[in-house]
Amino acid sequence: MFLSVFEVFKIGIGPSSSHTMGPMSAANRFLALLASNDWPRPAGAVVSRLSVSLHGSLAYTGVGHATDRAVILGLAGERPETVDPDAMDATIAQIRQKGTVEPAGHPGYAFDCDADVIFNRKESLPGHANGMTFYALNTDGTILLRQIYYSIGGGFVLTDTELTAWQEARNSPASDKQTDDIPFPFRTAAEMLSMAKRSGMTIAAMKRANEEARMPREKLDAGLDGLVGAMDGCIDRGLRGEGVLPGGLHVRRRAGQLYEKLSAAKLSNQFDPMMANDWLSMFAMAVNEENAAGGRVVTAPTNGAAGVVPATLRYCREFQSAAGKDATRDFLLTAAAIGGIIKTNASISGAEVGCQGEVGSASAMAAAGLAAAMGGTPEQVENAAEIALEHHLGMTCDPIAGLVQVPCIERNALGAVKAVTAASLALKGDGTHFVPLDNCIETMRQTGSDMHEKYKETSTGGLAVNVVDC
Ligand code: SF4
Repeated sequence: MFLSVFEVFKIGIGPSSSHTMGPMSAANRFLALLASNDWPRPAGAVVSRLSVSLHGSLAYTGVGHATDRAVILGLAGERPETVDPDAMDATIAQIRQKGTVEPAGHPGYAFDCDADVIFNRKESLPGHANGMTFYALNTDGTILLRQIYYSIGGGFVLTDTELTAWQEARNSPASDKQTDDIPFPFRTAAEMLSMAKRSGMTIAAMKRANEEARMPREKLDAGLDGLVGAMDGCIDRGLRGEGVLPGGLHVRRRAGQLYEKLSAAKLSNQFDPMMANDWLSMFAMAVNEENAAGGRVVTAPTNGAAGVVPATLRYCREFQSAAGKDATRDFLLTAAAIGGIIKTNASISGAEVGCQGEVGSASAMAAAGLAAAMGGTPEQVENAAEIALEHHLGMTCDPIAGLVQVPCIERNALGAVKAVTAASLALKGDGTHFVPLDNCIETMRQTGSDMHEKYKETSTGGLAVNVVDC
């Protein structure tokens, strides 16, 4: 199973990759299916209305994660990578007023924003916690086309058939033909280390070779630099943000005020041993406040956990003088390699395995990226990822009011702090360590599988029920 660095890191919008970006992409895919000839269309049938039902975690926390807005905008033809966050309210208001969605290339369909987005909390779909069914209806209300999609984390969307094929490939590596054209088809950390040993290459160099099997170097480097620009842009917008976040919890944006305080402290020239930690936390919070406000972010590997990698990367560039452009690219390639291994063998979805799969994975990716950028060996890089992931094991997903705000924003700050600590610890060793990364990933998978549903992005347990929502 090959996951490109541009699948692990995707430019999109907040607040959630699985609950906002995935559903919007699913709506895009449904429109494409509708416009194709890939479905049996009875003679005389006219698609006149669309509707969608949301299931499982999407039904429980969809309002807080803006899933309803995402599918409405997606059915209007908006895409996560290009939608203008500042124009979304006006687009939805217009759809409400006209009672139609009018995507480009389609005739326009009746759509009632209240009645045609159904939050079905009674029935879950069998493939994944984040299931949704799209319907195209005839003029007499009969169903002409019905398609299930699953949003499996990080903005990835699969149909029910694709999900089955993906699960089979995951369980049976020999049947996976997706990696035939890449030189280093590692699926596990053990395979990655053994290929690094045989080839004498770093993890970043192997990942680069895999990517370059499918795209020219110039395109790869331009894309990597574009990701850094998007991550930096998100931090900078977050640092300018003011006021309270949307959703009704009245959570204050703090990154901007922190920036003023930390900048003043820096100018005073007084040594503060917490300074690097504070800047790191501030970078992460800036991203996650921007995400919670529905702004543009990079999934890394999800939106809920989008602050950890950019914060650690910015820390690397601002506090580690060795980090030039090549080190920055190596950071992202290495982080993507680790993210791909975790997604292949466990999950990066909070609805599937809890927050250990989101912030835990992001922290492991960031730790590996930082260790690589600072010249670590493949063994030290693997060690860094393992330390970071191990100390997120068991972490539940319990966002208050279904909003990606509390505990998510501060959790990213702490994920980044753990990533830096893990990289630093690993770089001071020789790479040998007690728990292999693969065993840690498998532990996360098993723990997630045993975790009660109320702790998996349903907001029916944990902090979500122990703090008064007012
Ligand atoms: S608690 Fe963690 S997994 Fe859940 S929404 Fe927040 S960041 Fe994502």
